[in-house]
Amino acid sequence: MGEDPTTFSRTVVERRRCARCGGRYEYDRVLSIQRPAAARAAAELELDRRQAEADVAIVRCPACGKFGSDAVRARLLMLGATLGPAVLCAAAAVGLVLLAGMTGKFFWFLALAAALGAAWFALLAVVALVVPTTAKTRPASG
Ligand SMILES: [Zn+2]
Repeated sequence: MGEDPTTFSRTVVERRRCARCGGRYEYDRVLSIQRPAAARAAAELELDRRQAEADVAIVRCPACGKFGSDAVRARLLMLGATLGPAVLCAAAAVGLVLLAGMTGKFFWFLALAAALGAAWFALLAVVALVVPTTAKTRPASG
């Protein structure tokens, strides 16, 4: 029995205060997930969970153009959390190759796993950089 996935979405108004000019601004953060229509309660819980997470959209002050610092920090954290393991895996792969040169024993399975891990985390890092990109801001109302 196939159930058509339903899109559950929620628009949250995120408010920011510019660190440079002190102006207040806001933007619409759209949370959207797809779930079977019957799973409404679970979908709402998932939306709650995502709403509680820090938004990683890059926003700029509409008055002076300064980037929101928390958005940049969240993005850097995401990047670090993916780029770090990628570098470690790449280093492990290189280390195993160097070890093979010294000892004549090549743990090819470990090297392969490390290389694949490096590629995977590098891919995640690219995704972290590209998605989601920006949100359109406006001066806060009221
Ligand atoms: Zn500003």
